[in-house]
Amino acid sequence: MAITPRRAVILAVGSELTTGETRDTNGGDLAADLSRLGVHVIRIELLPDELDAAATAIRRAIDDADLVVTTGGLGPTPDDLTREALAAALGLTPAVDADLERQLVRLFERRGARMPETNRKQAWLVPGAEALPNAHGTAPGWWLEHDGTLLVTLPGPPRELQPMWREGVLPRLRARGLGAEVAVRTLRLTGIGESYVVEALGEAMLRASNPVVATYARPDAVDVRITARPEPGRDGTPDRPAAELLAEAERRVREALGAHVFATDDETWPEALGRRLGTRRVATWEHGTGGLLAATLAGAPWFLHGDVAGEAPPATPHDAQAAPADRVRTAAETLTASTGAEAALAVEARLRDGDTLVDIAVLVDGTMRTERRTVFLAGEQGRRRAALAACAALWEALGSAPVS
Ligand code: AMP
Ligand code: MG
Repeated sequence: MAITPRRAVILAVGSELTTGETRDTNGGDLAADLSRLGVHVIRIELLPDELDAAATAIRRAIDDADLVVTTGGLGPTPDDLTREALAAALGLTPAVDADLERQLVRLFERRGARMPETNRKQAWLVPGAEALPNAHGTAPGWWLEHDGTLLVTLPGPPRELQPMWREGVLPRLRARGLGAEVAVRTLRLTGIGESYVVEALGEAMLRASNPVVATYARPDAVDVRITARPEPGRDGTPDRPAAELLAEAERRVREALGAHVFATDDETWPEALGRRLGTRRVATWEHGTGGLLAATLAGAPWFLHGDVAGEAPPATPHDAQAAPADRVRTAAETLTASTGAEAALAVEARLRDGDTLVDIAVLVDGTMRTERRTVFLAGEQGRRRAALAACAALWEALGSAPVS
């Protein structure tokens, strides 16, 4: 019978991971997708290229989960041992699959080369396994349902793993109904720190198991993610669908924090600003941010013009002697006059005691607002946060301006 997995273990194999030479990104990428499908990832393990370690970990994963995903160790060299480890863990004997072997030989022929003998194991399968085609490399993955456990074996390089996962694995998991019953929504918050969000939501909400409400401090927002599953009825009460539970939790989050919600789900700052801008266009001026404000807004249809002042004191009309608050105000005024934009945003970031001090001026429909914020970071991160603070200031200003 086809397995519909609920609990997963992800095993990332490769000594480059356990020595710290390469950072594991596959584990998190796979876990994010599985979580969205409602599969509980109980652990992500990093393992060296050692047969016993990998086989032991696979056996343990099979005991604990009904989905085991491995990444890495599918290369042709003797240190790539995931196939051997999986076979050993399951007590199966791998054998060369004639079809896979033909494909592999042909792949090398097309490059005008003879297939090295070491590559032959990339044509292996264990009994019951199906090959997952690899459009970007020589190593196919494996899909194997064995004694109530689904095992998926993927290559390590992300450019090979990603297409195989998205095209070969996720559709098959969805076809088994995974994800259909889960409702997920992310509310993206600005102008408030994560601790205050936690305070406003309260412990009861953040500890509930359905819907799960979780907060994440990201560089560009504090995200509140709501994940709901259907709740079976008890004592004659009807079942409650996931969408209904999600809507109720979202209403409560918005009641507490609605004024800070600038975007939902995968929406970005430019998209959120675009909604409030209506037909207005924006010109920007920035100093000390390394052009990151313009880089953040690049491509937005309403982004008309971006000036980037270098580290040298800006020349007139942005008088270098003027206080930063005056300088950003002058810059915003000058911009609207010279570009004809309906909104101008000017930002200046300076270091102070390891933090970044940010002066911002927003001029929307003839109304000027200035403010000063402190970003508790310096350097590249401080500059990025300063650019995002400017986006937030524009968003707030537009909130109090009538929609045009
Ligand atoms: P493989 O031949 O399948 O063992 O994978 C080889 C390459 O894939 C490694 O040298 C890494 O550059 C990359 N890689 C392997 N595992 C991971 C991982 N978990 N996260 C990110 N990159 C990885
Ligand atoms: Mg490897």
